Amino acid sequence: MASPTFRAPKGTRDILSPESERRRALVEVFAALAGRAGFGEIESPLFENIGVFLRVGETTDIVTKEMFDFHDKGDPPEHLALRPELTASICRAFVEHRPVVPWKVWYAGPQFRYEQPQAGRYRQFTQVGVEVLGVDDPLLDVEIIALARRFYDTLGLGRVRLLLNSLGDPTCRPAYLEALTAHLLDHAAELSPQARVTLERNPLRVLDSKRAEDQAVIDAAPVMVDHLTDESAAHFAAVTSGLDRLGIDYEISPRLVRGLDYYTRTTFEFAADALPGAQNAVGGGGRYDGLVADLGGPDTPGIGFALGVDRTLLACDAEGVFPAPATAPDVFVVDVVDGTHALTVCEDLRAAGLAADRAYGGRSMKAQMKAAGRSGARLAVIVGDDELATGRVTVRDLERGEQTTVPRDDLVEHVRRATAQ
Ligand code: AMP
Repeated sequence: MASPTFRAPKGTRDILSPESERRRALVEVFAALAGRAGFGEIESPLFENIGVFLRVGETTDIVTKEMFDFHDKGDPPEHLALRPELTASICRAFVEHRPVVPWKVWYAGPQFRYEQPQAGRYRQFTQVGVEVLGVDDPLLDVEIIALARRFYDTLGLGRVRLLLNSLGDPTCRPAYLEALTAHLLDHAAELSPQARVTLERNPLRVLDSKRAEDQAVIDAAPVMVDHLTDESAAHFAAVTSGLDRLGIDYEISPRLVRGLDYYTRTTFEFAADALPGAQNAVGGGGRYDGLVADLGGPDTPGIGFALGVDRTLLACDAEGVFPAPATAPDVFVVDVVDGTHALTVCEDLRAAGLAADRAYGGRSMKAQMKAAGRSGARLAVIVGDDELATGRVTVRDLERGEQTTVPRDDLVEHVRRATAQ
């Protein structure tokens, strides 16, 4: 019987070179910007006790339907879940370590959600993001948004819009929720069956519905920004005037409620117009001033964002920016003697910081020259019997088609000079 063949699990992908180098380059862009803004990197576990996630989003799909959860082999077993996002883990880490505030961290890594896969939606996807704990100054909100904006700008993306909203605070929410619920109940008959179910669980999330039949009711619904307390309104005004000061464009989007329940006050999303509507959210974030306390810590304000690496790169493809970095070697070594010269020449070049590659298995000169061409290398170094006898090697510039011989001992210096041009 034939052995079974396997494929990557549904909703996951192997990321091959050069796309993998492109993703690393993107993370490096983000790391450099975050580092400059005073953030330190955090690495946290890929899985947590499921309670970490349940505490923060018992009414959201991400937590109720989309978690990859499992029991470990302990006695009694511990109920764990692959992280669907990182804010909850970081708040858990904050409560565990009690670092000095403000605590400013950045991260990059995979998240897991049991979603229905489609273009730009995967079960394992990568996010880069930041979180700041311990500051409720609205100017921090401005800086956080400016950091995300600078990231998209640095990648070369020109068609990413910032959508902004305030979800108020626990004091203004009850009155708003009352007004919203009354409106939705009045119009429940006009809503989709799914929206009616959501209405019972969490009226705010009805505003998230993308279903056409719900839009008229949603459009007529009261909006949070009209129900802010003076304090939350002043906080929001400070955020918008800070953005104005930095010349960062935004659109007030009163329906923006975002997927997770823990958000308060400032919330924002970045929409890439180069992508189709259903996947145009390339990142988002906001304040979550109650989350640390929900996880058993002291009352601590927090704010952060998560940017989707996969979708951001799809937006880069659509705009034709941020290509994969070149991965061609500087030199391809062709050894028609016995292969051992290619071994030492490659190692000498690599030790000197140059990128060198070769062919294996004693192939013909013609086949090796073909491989050299395919590799994209700028130079081929050719070692043959003639060269060996004179202590010299041939260096061929594959772009210009020029060829010269140099003493073997001077090769590294020669290559260094030739590739620096
Ligand atoms: P969220 O944590 O849901 O606010 O997501 C933040 C960003 O992560 C989104 O704007 C997307 O770019 C990205 N994202 C969320 N879920 C997925 C997914 N299933 N597949 C790919 N990217 C995702």
